[in-house]
Parts: sequence; C-alpha cells; structure tokens
Amino acid sequence: MSQAFHDLTGIVNRLEKNHPVKKEEIEYLLGLSDPREMDLLFRAARRARSGYFGPKIFLYGFLYFSTYCRNDCAFCQYRKSNQALPRYRKTESEIINAAKEMAGAGVHLVDLTMGEDPGVYSPGESGFGPLVRMIQSLENEIRLPLMISPGVLPDTVLEELARERITWYACYQETHNFSLYKTLRPGQEFEKRLAAKQKAKDLGMLIEEGILTGVGESLEDLADSIVWMKEFGVDQARVMTFVPQANTPMAHTVAQDHVKECIIIAVMRLVMPEILIPASLDVDGLSGLQARLDAGANVVTSIVPPQKGLAGVAHHSLDIEDSRRTVDQLLPVLKTCGLEPALPEEYRAWTAARMDRTGPSFQQKGA
Ligand code: SF4
Repeated sequence: MSQAFHDLTGIVNRLEKNHPVKKEEIEYLLGLSDPREMDLLFRAARRARSGYFGPKIFLYGFLYFSTYCRNDCAFCQYRKSNQALPRYRKTESEIINAAKEMAGAGVHLVDLTMGEDPGVYSPGESGFGPLVRMIQSLENEIRLPLMISPGVLPDTVLEELARERITWYACYQETHNFSLYKTLRPGQEFEKRLAAKQKAKDLGMLIEEGILTGVGESLEDLADSIVWMKEFGVDQARVMTFVPQANTPMAHTVAQDHVKECIIIAVMRLVMPEILIPASLDVDGLSGLQARLDAGANVVTSIVPPQKGLAGVAHHSLDIEDSRRTVDQLLPVLKTCGLEPALPEEYRAWTAARMDRTGPSFQQKGA
C-alpha cells in the first residue's frame, strides 16, 4: 500500500468513527484525483449515508417564482444588469397550482425561491406582506414542509415565517472566503448574509447553506466552507458546479466538470454524516444524478414540473420542458443506485426531530 493510500484510509477511517480531523486533512481529501482513491472516498460516503438514512432519499420540488433581482451577482444569469434575460413573476394561483402538482407527484418538500425581487424588497418591510401571505396560503393548501430561498430577509419577516412554522431557510453564501465573496456577490454584505442564517436558526428554522465550485476557489476555501458549515450546524449542505452564464462577467470562465462537486459531496457526507446533502438536477440534469448519489447525496433537488414556464438556476431550462426533471423520471436512477424515495412521514419525522434537536434520529423513527 502506498503512503498516500495509507494516509487516505487513515483519514477516512477516523471520519467514519466520528473522530475529529484537521482542516488540512479535509483539504487533502478534496484534492484527490486518483480514480482508486476517489472510489474509496465515495464508498465510505455511501456507507456513512446508509448508516443514518438507510436507502431512503428525499425529493424536493423547486419553484422559482420570481426571476427579478435587485442584485448583480457575477455568476448569476438573473443579475439585474442582464437585460437580455426574459423574466417572470408568478401569481399566487400559478404558484399554488405548480406546488400542488409537485405535491401530487410525490415530492417531500417545495423549495420556494426568488431573486431579491425589487417589487418585494424596495418598499421596505411592508413589501414583504404579500410574500408572507402567499407562503401562508401555500402551506395551507399543500400541507408539505416548505423551504424559502428569497434572499436576505429582514428579521421581522423571518420572525413571522418562523411563527408560521416554515421549516427551512436557505441563504447561500457560495463561499466563505471574504475576498472571493466580494467578487461573486458585489455590494452584498458578507456578515449580513451570515446574520440572517443565524437569526433563522435561533428562531428554530432549519438552515441550508450552499457553496459553488469552479468559481476560482482554492481547496483551502472549500475546506474552510465545510468547517464553517459543521461549526454552524447547518441542516443541509449544498454544493453546485458553476455553469458559466452568457451576459455576465463570468461568461468566459472555463467550465469545470462534475468530479470536484462529487468529491465535495462525499467529503461533506463524511464530515457531517447526519445532515441532508442534495444532488441537484440543476447542473447536469437527469444524466448527472447517479454520480452525485454515488458520492453520498441523500436528497434530489430541483425537481421542476414541465409546462408551467418555470426556470432553473444554473440552467434556465435544462431538462424541464421535456419532463426529465420529474419524480417519475428519477425513480429508475434511484433504483439503479439501490435507493428508494422516503415516505412523506419519514421526511416529516426527520425535520421534526432535527428542529427540536432532542428528538430521535431518522433511523430510530423506524425508517
Ligand atoms: S444569485 Fe440570487 S441574489 Fe444574486 S443575482 Fe442571482 S438571483 Fe439575484
């Protein structure tokens, strides 16, 4: 056995036994490139997933209900300076109908996402009233847990949504390197974004954090993000490969393949084995799902119903209108991986236990 392989098995073994590892060791795992070593990492990540979740996978519908945004993120096609992009703002009834369709198809959660729509953010706190009322109506209609991803919400709005028992708040930093953050999210306060997550967590909501890979980050930056997520206690950790977007400052960035994203998924699984880690359909569509599940993901995100005029994030339309981002289409992929969708009550049990932090684990609930 080579020294490198010996070092790798030592780190992985310690992670599997829940022993602490150093940031440099996380960095070492993130830098793997030998196929045999990556295979060892992915196998360990699958074992870790199985230990907490068995073969069960959670399914998330994605509802991008307004593509207007006041911000100018360098990586995002929905940035306000992109005048070439057709935009939409869905009505309450369109949102409820799309969510009902997803619920009927068997998703466990609906992720309600928008840019920082000036129609909501510009009037100040009063602008959030219709948004909160829409979320309340939607929750009453579909009776599924909701994730809200509407940008950096004011504290009072987070308080209102927490009182409504909205389950999740997602507010992605994309990187925890302050300098890189400033180039990715110009004009948006790093600390304010962190503070919104902390506020939502203090209010009892579950928190999803997200990072991008392929945006000029170093292995140390990625390791810093993973350490930050573990120390913060995020409940769901997402990584997505950056897809260069036309009409943005990063349009000519060389695109990265999906391998690094899979390695990051596997490392996050080993460092935080008990949390949710998505395999997003948004980057490579259905064809990229198996690799991400094989790396240890346990949630499929960005399921989008066709014929509703709804967009994705990294790709405006990939696999949506040809119905390849539906529950029916992904079930055979789960089966190939030896996995199966969880029951809705299993997802509710997991979120409820996680929200009170003293409850039983997913497996103890009989999953
Ligand atoms: S990433 Fe979000 S906040 Fe930034 S420009 Fe895109 S939609 Fe707006």
